[in-house]
Amino acid sequence: MSKVNKWLKESIFINPLSPGCKMCAKGSKLVVLITGLCPANCYYCPLSKEKKGKDRIFADEWELSDENDTEKLILEARYIGATGAGITGGDPLAVWSRTKKYIKLLKDEFGTNFHIHLYTSGMKNYEYTNDLIKAGLDEIRFHPMPAFWNNMEKSFLKKSIRNSLDNGCDVAIEIPAIPNMENEILSLIKWSNDNNLCWVNLNELEFSETNANELNKKGFTVKDDISAAVKGSQETAYRVIEFASKENIDIGIHYCSSSFKDGIQLRNRIKRRAKNTAKKSDLITKDGTFLKGVVYSDRITLDQIYKILIEEFKIDNNLIFLNKKKNRIEIAAWVLEKIASRLVKKDMKCFLIEEYPTADGLEVEKTPLPF
Ligand code: SF4
Repeated sequence: MSKVNKWLKESIFINPLSPGCKMCAKGSKLVVLITGLCPANCYYCPLSKEKKGKDRIFADEWELSDENDTEKLILEARYIGATGAGITGGDPLAVWSRTKKYIKLLKDEFGTNFHIHLYTSGMKNYEYTNDLIKAGLDEIRFHPMPAFWNNMEKSFLKKSIRNSLDNGCDVAIEIPAIPNMENEILSLIKWSNDNNLCWVNLNELEFSETNANELNKKGFTVKDDISAAVKGSQETAYRVIEFASKENIDIGIHYCSSSFKDGIQLRNRIKRRAKNTAKKSDLITKDGTFLKGVVYSDRITLDQIYKILIEEFKIDNNLIFLNKKKNRIEIAAWVLEKIASRLVKKDMKCFLIEEYPTADGLEVEKTPLPF
């Protein structure tokens, strides 16, 4: 009998946990979406419209302009103080040579202890998994189609799984906890245990803009008004893990809730990025977002505003930043609060902005100044 451990945000697990999951929880895993292409076409695939079926590459929220734009990949890893990377998609095997190149690059840059795991449907190009392992891949998470969950002996993945294990790679299974599929999931866990896999990861099934129609057709609903998680998915995972804990099962099983992904993994990653990328003028909130003062005008150029602030208002140039990309002057919030009423009289617009410290700088809130 194994102990079922409670983790944060309703996640639970039976030991051992994958090193990849531990790093994810700390926010120290770089998320590399290496392509939006995938041969599997699962009805529950949550990938967004912008990424699904498109050969685009992202290092966390930062889009690479093409395969050779690896400077951003390394920089993003540094910004979050990454101790590893999770290569996902789409399906990384769909672009296996790019995946190999990135594994090698990350290992060369950050050393052999930099833990790299990869998620794949294993449907296409599985003959190249050995090349990826040789390049330094530490863990493969295979995603078998639901039709094989209770019959893995018939799955085309069997050979790739065996081959990966024989070549010294940690192998896991990663699937969504689909409500009412307890028996199939348990059968998959037993098969994984009997075949010496390391872990089974169960993700809470989630609605997204691209899978909502299919999930609705199958009668699934959201679990509550503030969540995109599917009702019953968590209960299914809990029942399976409870049952597995009473069986003779040695492998690790981890249920990862959608609130764990948002509230722990993403939040911690954002906090790390905020700490490493904040300018002197940025305030970091307890959630890891930035608070910035922002000034722009329809009548005066940014260069003119900058000059006025330095020369007339004697603002320390460490506390001002001319952000051409966003077409605005950023200035320390505590400074702007004091001078906003005078700037407004000079035809300038002043705001207090809260935004993510991510490459896309997603805005959370915009408050006009003076208060
Ligand atoms: S294998 Fe994963 S990425 Fe590919 S379609 Fe299925 S859920 Fe989406």
